[in-house]
Amino acid sequence: MTNYLVVGSGLFGAVFASQMAERGHQVTVLEKRAHLAGNIYTKEIEGIQVHQYGAHIFHTSNKKIWDFVNQYAQFNRFTNAPVALSKGKLYNLPFNMNTFYALWGLRTPAEVKEKIAQQSQLPHNKEPQNLEEQAISLVGTDIYETLIKEYTEKQWGQPCSELPAFIIRRLPVRLTFDNNYFNDLYQGIPVGGYTQIVEKMLDHPNIQVQLNTDFMQNKEQWLKNYEKIIYTGMIDEYYDYQYGELDYRSLSFEHETLDTDNFQGNAVINYIDKTVPYTRIIEHKHFEYGTQGKTIITKEYPRTWQKGEEPYYPVNNEKNLQTYQQYKALADQDQQVIFGGRLGMYRYFDMHQVIEEALNLVSKEG
Ligand code: FAD
Ligand code: UDP
Repeated sequence: MTNYLVVGSGLFGAVFASQMAERGHQVTVLEKRAHLAGNIYTKEIEGIQVHQYGAHIFHTSNKKIWDFVNQYAQFNRFTNAPVALSKGKLYNLPFNMNTFYALWGLRTPAEVKEKIAQQSQLPHNKEPQNLEEQAISLVGTDIYETLIKEYTEKQWGQPCSELPAFIIRRLPVRLTFDNNYFNDLYQGIPVGGYTQIVEKMLDHPNIQVQLNTDFMQNKEQWLKNYEKIIYTGMIDEYYDYQYGELDYRSLSFEHETLDTDNFQGNAVINYIDKTVPYTRIIEHKHFEYGTQGKTIITKEYPRTWQKGEEPYYPVNNEKNLQTYQQYKALADQDQQVIFGGRLGMYRYFDMHQVIEEALNLVSKEG
């Protein structure tokens, strides 16, 4: 039996800790924040589950992952169908027949196909080289200009022509009147919030949790005391930035309680225009069909990441991926430490992917 130290109580750390504890290992979980659950943390305010670090909608096509997560909470039937506001007009997302009708007045898939074909030619015949080319080749210039360019540049703080193409391939393009943001088979929001999932995972006699403790402040001591460490914080920070800093994108969240029962009529509204400083407003009660008298909204402002701030998104461009490979090579030689999760693996993972990665690691560590 091994004595594990898991750094980070986010989804990766919690899944790994729970499964190893069930296999009889002892696990200590360290968390530098004052609460469990990392970025999926939700907190009840005015009877509403508030997603403190941005809207989190669980979705997966993997039945095994869906069954796994359903052990820890009951999921409701929420389907993400965001609306985007661009230059005073509302459009349905993801890009589908409702969007194309609102933008072009076109009513049939054949008309839309033709319109996109006219607008989606790239000047060269190569594969799209960046996000701008990828977006244009998928949906044409009108959609790119109206719904993608300003939002993306605000979110990532860089021109679309310098961002990797895969970011925009996350969004479906459909020639049906289907506003579901995801293509996955299973989707929902846990009734009672996400925090309970992590609490239940970590509620095991073999698991000890220590909040408000930053591993980096006592690194040598922890390394001495534990045979095996699972690290879900930033891999570049762990190695003292010896190959330089990786880039991250940060966010700030402004939560407000309003004395109205319904502020915007939808859980998520995206604000495309660059003149608006935030990218989206979340109205939390709509994730759970809430009927409370008040409502809570959160404005999400993108920020340039600087040391000491929360690193929400890895910026997976060529330069960073090369730097990450150097850190990964160090990690591969390290017998004591294994890196996991969005920050440890420097990948733009969604929750279902994080669970899958953690379960894969459990099978290896057994
Ligand atoms: P984290 O949740 O970041 O957990 C890492 C933990 O480690 C943190 O609690 C941190 O405090 C702690 N830590 C770091 N360094 C140290 C240290 N040195 N010492 C001690 N503790 C440390 N996914 C979806 O599937 N659907 C969505 O709708 C969705 N929306 C998102 C919206 C936003 C705004 C963001 C940022 C992410 C979203 N995600 C979504 C992704 C989801 O948040 C992640 O997949 C998941 O939370 C990653 O879990 P993790 O354990 O890897 O990382
Ligand atoms: N995006 C966009 N317009 C929108 C919503 C998304 O251009 O109204 C782009 C943007 O580049 C974003 C990417 O699509 O980074 C992925 O969107 P998603 O909603 O998956 O982002 P996340 O929830 O991870 O922030």
